[in-house]
Amino acid sequence: MSKFYITTPIYYVNARPHIGHAYTTIACDTIARRHRMLGDDTFFLTGTDEHGQKIERAAEAAAKTPQQYADEISSEFRQLWKRMGISNDDFIRTTEERHKKRVQELFRRIRDNGYIYQGTYTGQYCVYDELYVDGAQPGDPCPTCGRITETVHEENYFFKLSAFQDKLLEAYANPDFIRPETRRNEVISFVRSGLRDQSISRSVFSWGIPVPDDPKQVIYVWFDALANYITAIGYGSSHPGAQEAFKKYWPADVQMIGKEIVRFHCVYWPAFLMAANLPLPKAIVAHGWLLFEESKMSKSRGNIVRTETILDVLGADALRYFLLREVVFGQDGSFSFDALVQRYNSDLANGIGNLASRTLTMINRYFRGEVPYPSHAASRRPADDTIAKLAQKTIREFANFFDQFQFSRALETAWALVAAVDKYIVENEPWSLGEKQDEDSRSRLATVLYTSAEALRIVTALAHPVIPDATAKIWMQLGLGDIQKVALKELAWGQLHLGTRLGEVQPVFPRADKSAVERMQQMEDQQRTSVADEVKDTPSPAASTQASTKAQPIAPSVTNVTPDGKITIDDFAKIDLRVGVVKVAERVPKSDKLLRMEVDIGSEVRQVVAGIAEAYAPETLIGRKVVIVANLAPRKLRGLESNGMIVAASLEGSGRPVLAGFLEDVPPGARLK
Ligand SMILES: [Zn+2]
Repeated sequence: MSKFYITTPIYYVNARPHIGHAYTTIACDTIARRHRMLGDDTFFLTGTDEHGQKIERAAEAAAKTPQQYADEISSEFRQLWKRMGISNDDFIRTTEERHKKRVQELFRRIRDNGYIYQGTYTGQYCVYDELYVDGAQPGDPCPTCGRITETVHEENYFFKLSAFQDKLLEAYANPDFIRPETRRNEVISFVRSGLRDQSISRSVFSWGIPVPDDPKQVIYVWFDALANYITAIGYGSSHPGAQEAFKKYWPADVQMIGKEIVRFHCVYWPAFLMAANLPLPKAIVAHGWLLFEESKMSKSRGNIVRTETILDVLGADALRYFLLREVVFGQDGSFSFDALVQRYNSDLANGIGNLASRTLTMINRYFRGEVPYPSHAASRRPADDTIAKLAQKTIREFANFFDQFQFSRALETAWALVAAVDKYIVENEPWSLGEKQDEDSRSRLATVLYTSAEALRIVTALAHPVIPDATAKIWMQLGLGDIQKVALKELAWGQLHLGTRLGEVQPVFPRADKSAVERMQQMEDQQRTSVADEVKDTPSPAASTQASTKAQPIAPSVTNVTPDGKITIDDFAKIDLRVGVVKVAERVPKSDKLLRMEVDIGSEVRQVVAGIAEAYAPETLIGRKVVIVANLAPRKLRGLESNGMIVAASLEGSGRPVLAGFLEDVPPGARLK
């Protein structure tokens, strides 16, 4: 039995999980499931990355300890994966003891091998990306995210990255090591242009793993995070079982990443491994971004689509199928609710769902629920053999595409078989044959239904890693038991036995009507409103106030934060806070949360839309004095332009907003400073 080890990147706990995270995890889950069906001893790892300055600051802004903050978000990831049926074998958190000790062990080993030394770093650092920006000047923006970098002057530890230039280039000579080729070429040209030693510790904050023998320093968050791929399977442990597991599973067979973290995974990570005399992973595979209406999904742009919305309305299989079928793996893909519902109806409800239901219903009706067998050679037609041959070809092609990470083409191939069988059924009219009692018609009917059921069985087995839920149900309906026991290596035409008793036949993919799109859109709008309202509670440079779903440029950091997380009075003065009087307040139609208000701020009357309808009846607000952020860029909520934001405290737990107000009388327009 061969082993197969696959990893997702571990997700940084600065953001709640969205379908961008789900996409990577689904792709890995699908690969892991297929390898289990192929009989491989499979280990599938995912987890959360929880250290670093960004987390420390975000926690502080949320009035939580970094550990509380990390616990909450990490738990959201675990719950979501559970709900989606993600089949990971372990979930590593970088704040776990097992990880911390083993990272220190790796650090020690590399230091003992002579690749870590002490030095002074003076330069620019992007806290948002936790990234050293070589060659940047004070005030320069980060090349990755556009935020203003911070000047760092620190005594710390350096990794001798420059020693690995040639060895890395040698490793890249293997075309399977970094995929797809565009990413491989980028990495090669980056490394050819020369590598500088990298600072791998920080001393100005404490939320990290202490450097062994020098607890004033913490290990750079990327070193810490990348090490998870080996610490989780036992590297650096003194426990014999863990050492065994590490020996068995390392090197990883596939390490899946998003294209924005290619440099860390394809340059730093292999260099760290080489410095520790460890073998390199067999393949690092980078996928593209999932775009929402042409714009990268990200927390800062507020155009995140939550996975829960899709799970609630269409289920996990729909999302899994859509992402793997619609996105050409490696390239950027586009997500929209319209496309999701369209794909769901055409391929799942009308495709495999309909094939299963019509085939199995007819076997129930004409053969009392037992699979018939084409007994007479005379009852065969060339069309039957065509389906059998196509099915055999589909098994081969599906495997080839899948092994090349071309999920979209693999599924296209399998669904071409679904379409061919549909056409075959229509042309052979089993329902007409079923009306006749003569032996020839019965025999012909048996052949047609056997052929359809056997093709359905093959598509179901192939599609199981992608749509595990529905295929498990179809498998039961086919009377075949537990689909996870299928030996995919032996899958071939003609294995469905005569007399197999069908299970209870039920539709697996009910058709979705137009309201599905509206429902999902509405759930997301409500979510965005509450996210937009949360922004005022987290004055972190990472939090942007953009909440529109339209394409947005990257918001530069609003403030210049000093290394200890404080802002200057000038930064505060940029925020124009005014006293306002509510003149008009009314509910926004079809929204539970939103109120539309007209607020007099002295110089003008502003329209403001706020997510406070659950806490305040509109009529109670008329005449009330409120605090308005008057110079906030306008944004649209449910089609209404909101010009400003009302300041409110957010209650712990319920998140209920409580409006800020005044005990003394103040005129509208007065500035808060
Ligand atoms: Zn950045």
